Amino acid sequence: IMLDLTGKNALVTGIANNRSIAWGIAQQLHKAGANLAVTYLPDEKGRFEKKVRDVVEPINPSLILPCNVQNEDQVEATFKAIGDTWGKLDIVIHCLAFADKEGLGGDFSSISREAFSQSLEISTFSLGNLAKYAKPLMTEGGSIVTLTYLGGVKVIPNYNLMGVAKAGLEMSVRYLASELGPDQIRVNAISAGPIRTLASSAVGGILEMIRHVEAVAPLKRTVTQLEVGNTAAFLCSDLASGITGQVIYVDAGYEIMGMG
Ligand code: NAD
Repeated sequence: IMLDLTGKNALVTGIANNRSIAWGIAQQLHKAGANLAVTYLPDEKGRFEKKVRDVVEPINPSLILPCNVQNEDQVEATFKAIGDTWGKLDIVIHCLAFADKEGLGGDFSSISREAFSQSLEISTFSLGNLAKYAKPLMTEGGSIVTLTYLGGVKVIPNYNLMGVAKAGLEMSVRYLASELGPDQIRVNAISAGPIRTLASSAVGGILEMIRHVEAVAPLKRTVTQLEVGNTAAFLCSDLASGITGQVIYVDAGYEIMGMG
């Protein structure tokens, strides 16, 4: 048995820079032989696009597309381009989230209606919405993988609004797995340990959390983007053909500890 993604077409969302978990995943999917399409969050000056193009250059993706998940036209255009280029899709990596600063510290009860809806729309609704467009293209079955965090299950200081978004995301994984299973489309989440990235730097005390994990987790360290990428590659491969609707912890074992 071998982990082989040759001939599989993969959409990877959420690369912002070379620290992004999505970049760790894209590299491992590429190494396993998958064809890649990547999306970036477009900004007015085109800086994000330039950054992402520079980062992904070594793996030379077939497609590099703008896709703000709050923009339905861009989401539709992304899957249209994939359909036109490949005809079928096998893998979707949902590796994006957002919460306004006010939702990532301070009092949970003072989070505004606007910050709450925006975070849930970007971080939670988007998974099902991407699945809606992926479904007709996954004609030979498929694998959808999203990224979550323990803060969606237990209270973690400052994770606040994102905790609610991740709880909703993990439940979305189960409902989507149930809906899409008959089409042999599997849907799973990876619950990653804390890693320094652009997004995690917005969460107050992330460095303390990493140090805490290094002290407490069974493996006495936190994890890397490439380790998350390895698990994503496994979940997208035929080796994981019997796994759907699950949240797999890639966290150096931290989740099992009672005296966290
Ligand atoms: P990151 O900042 O590299 O990635 C977040 C991505 O979300 C960026 O590429 C950003 O452009 C994208 N994004 C934000 N709003 C968007 C929108 N409206 N449309 C499209 N894309 C949008 O940080 P990361 O840590 O690699 O985050 C990736 C995923 O991993 C997130 O879901 C995050 O919650 C999850 N995660 C991170 C950690 C961690 O410690 N870093 C731990 C567990 C889970």
